[in-house]
Amino acid sequence: MTPNRSDKAVQECRRCGTCCKKGGPALHVEDRDLVENGQLPLTDLYTLRRGEMARDNVRGTLQPLKEEIIKVKARQAGGWTCRYYADHRETCRIYSTRPIECRALQCWDTREIERMYALGRLCRKDLLERLDGLWDLVEEHERRCSYEKLDRFTRQLKKDGNEIDADKVLEILQYDTELRNLVIERGGLDPQMLDFLFGRPLAKTVDQFGIRLERKGAKITRLVFNASPAAGRQTDRAKASK
Ligand code: SF4
Repeated sequence: MTPNRSDKAVQECRRCGTCCKKGGPALHVEDRDLVENGQLPLTDLYTLRRGEMARDNVRGTLQPLKEEIIKVKARQAGGWTCRYYADHRETCRIYSTRPIECRALQCWDTREIERMYALGRLCRKDLLERLDGLWDLVEEHERRCSYEKLDRFTRQLKKDGNEIDADKVLEILQYDTELRNLVIERGGLDPQMLDFLFGRPLAKTVDQFGIRLERKGAKITRLVFNASPAAGRQTDRAKASK
């Protein structure tokens, strides 16, 4: 959804799909009804959590988020095109009920999208607070697995190579993985809900801290700092002592 101030030739939406191929929209409070009445199912959404690295599409910068964002998923894992964009018809499948950001984005005049882009964003609490159990789970996950905690412990670990900090990081990653498995296996939750409820798996996003994971089967066994083999050796030693 990167705006384009300079395209003077375009004066109305030609439904070319250029913006839809650059990522799905973030949701705002105006979109709440679309979610609550099922037009935007939770399985089509994911959460970028506070502290997670994300691209600011208006400023074009990559930075840790100050507040969480709920977004429409991409069509394919690792891709960018919004899952509601239909290539064969070159159109949005939900055009008449598309979220507010898509309505505000006029690629020939980006003032409106720039004005509202960071305002009144919808968050998980808005949607889950009244649902018994689910919001408690999300809060507990956030308490145990926040990006702030990961940031603190990984900084400390890089500085001191302390095995207690290595264990703390591994505990967070393990809890995040196990909770996801648990709510599917014991709670019968649709796996497509996970990235909305708990954000993207930390095992996939932890590389924002310069960490690579080594595994034995599903179990994470070792942290390796990409830029610092010495720190990697420290965390290896910490795990061997467990
Ligand atoms: S919701 Fe529709 S208009 Fe908005 S980015 Fe997706 S395909 Fe494009």
